[in-house]
Amino acid sequence: MRRGARPMVLEYKGARTAFDMPGWYCDECDESIHTGEDMKVSDRALNRLKATTEGLPLPEDIKRIRTKLGLTQEAAGELIGGGPRAFQKYEAGDLLPSRAIGSALALLDRDPAGLSVLRVRPHVA
Ligand SMILES: [Zn+2]
Repeated sequence: MRRGARPMVLEYKGARTAFDMPGWYCDECDESIHTGEDMKVSDRALNRLKATTEGLPLPEDIKRIRTKLGLTQEAAGELIGGGPRAFQKYEAGDLLPSRAIGSALALLDRDPAGLSVLRVRPHVA
């Protein structure tokens, strides 16, 4: 087996994405072995495809909006939702945001002053 990356295509609801899948590949057959880190590459590619297909923000959109709001990842998870670890996962592409989180981010991107509405609510620290 040899370490490498091979082209792979994923499909979701008729949409497709192509990416290079890292892993250990056999020289003589189609066999391959993928580590947990390798699987993250395909999980992230699938999450991007789902986000695009479902109209959810991409990881870089989420980071841009959070930064624009002047929030840490932890504060964003507490104020907007998802919990203190959620934005780290959204921005890494490891977790797809819910439609509700996507909607809140779209509204806050349009009107960052709306954040003051969320700040006065009690929330779990
Ligand atoms: Zn083989």
